[in-house]
Amino acid sequence: MTKIKTIGILTSGGDAPGMNAAIRAVTRAAKFNGFRVMAIYRGYRGLIDDEIVEFTNKSVSNIIQLGGTILKTARSDEFLSQEGRQKAYETIRKHEIDALVVIGGDGSLSGARQFAVEHDFPIIGLPGTIDNDLYGTDTTIGYDTALNTIMECVDKIRDTASSHERLFFIEVMGREAGFLALNSAIASGAEAAIIPEHATQFDQLAEFISRGFRKSKNSSIVLVAESKETGGALGLAERVKVEFPEYDVRVSILGHLQRGGSPTAHDRILASRMGFAAIEALLDDQRNVMIGIRDDEIVYVPFSKAVKIKKPIDDKLVETLRVLST
Ligand code: ATP
Repeated sequence: MTKIKTIGILTSGGDAPGMNAAIRAVTRAAKFNGFRVMAIYRGYRGLIDDEIVEFTNKSVSNIIQLGGTILKTARSDEFLSQEGRQKAYETIRKHEIDALVVIGGDGSLSGARQFAVEHDFPIIGLPGTIDNDLYGTDTTIGYDTALNTIMECVDKIRDTASSHERLFFIEVMGREAGFLALNSAIASGAEAAIIPEHATQFDQLAEFISRGFRKSKNSSIVLVAESKETGGALGLAERVKVEFPEYDVRVSILGHLQRGGSPTAHDRILASRMGFAAIEALLDDQRNVMIGIRDDEIVYVPFSKAVKIKKPIDDKLVETLRVLST
């Protein structure tokens, strides 16, 4: 049986829809099992600065439907240093916190791994990021909502694209990962997706143009993942304008609206299952794992794998888009 009595919970890095559902699930499952729950505001910065409040079941009522995170989130340069992490550890000792649940992306879980090793401290991670770029889990909390938001935006842009017979480059988030661009291209019936994972294999833009994107269509939409590798939507549009001045090219950068909004049912259920599983993992004396989901089953992924291994893009999805957009 676990010796853990008090659990700390925080959200860190970029906010993602469904983080609140995860906070609720962790809190309720922890209280159900007799743990105290200490809520840490503003991620690792709040842990260093001692921004901590005890949570009850009531603290998390009426939040499952809210976007963002009620715990706020932050990036902390101080936590990158050993001295910063030592201060965080002192706060943990002061509040007698025995284990942490960290909800965040790649960076946040790298920080969790570093801290767990340095202080021999149990941490469970939940993958909270719209980018879906964590290895060992099919999806991350927030990804499905962002995908749906992008799809709705692209549907609207297509109305104007087809009325004016334009070529639109739409840039979406992803932080060097193409999951959002590729799957939103499939979901919205776009003509192509330009993603960093394939940037070195061939010139995706040249291939798209050479296929004669306008021959059979009265508009074209290309989803572009933000990334140094792809050059982003503005860079691609500039190239096309120079090489093919006959095309009427437009750019739309969706930006932060992709992060917001009420989480989809998928993200709420995913966050609830993962939050529940985090407490089960602690009861089982597991530590330093990220909760993942594979083939609809909860799995435990060691931090070392989740943050170190690059999650591959499924080539079948790339082929599906290519064939269906002809
Ligand atoms: P998103 O994917 O949504 O951007 P993220 O969790 O990857 O979220 P980051 O800004 O990369 O966001 O990381 C959040 C915080 O985690 C950083 O501000 C820093 O405090 C901590 N962190 C990141 N990497 C490390 C590391 N290698 N060691 C210690 N702490 C880290």
